[in-house]
Amino acid sequence: MALCLLGFRGSGYSPGFVEAMAAVQAGFKADPDQLVELVDAPDPICAACPNLDDGGCTLGGPDHEAHMRAHDRDVLGRLGLAAGEAIPWGRLLERIAGQIQGSDLDAICTTCPWLPLGVCRASVDDLRDPSERPDHEA
Ligand code: SF4
Repeated sequence: MALCLLGFRGSGYSPGFVEAMAAVQAGFKADPDQLVELVDAPDPICAACPNLDDGGCTLGGPDHEAHMRAHDRDVLGRLGLAAGEAIPWGRLLERIAGQIQGSDLDAICTTCPWLPLGVCRASVDDLRDPSERPDHEA
């Protein structure tokens, strides 16, 4: 969900989901020292999503929860982190900037309907030093 928060621009699956995303995004922006509890399961933002049912995420069909958990573990692994750990939001952004590029989202986010918009890719690359960005001209 950390990558999704980076790309969030006010659109989402329902008014309640958008409200939850906006509140969490604003909270982390106001206080980068705020601890993020890392999970590989539905989080408090997912609780506001109409695609969540008792079996988990149904966005891509009834078996989508297993896909989403694998997605979460993939991202945590790339960042050298694990579910159950906690890290300040600002430190998490530093890890993302060092370990993930916008182009990696093609392999990470695969089935996400927001991926083609390109906003999440750009948001991840915006974390990096300008000289390290893919569009940098030497
Ligand atoms: S493309 Fe989808 S899964 Fe990937 S960071 Fe954006 S919203 Fe999240």
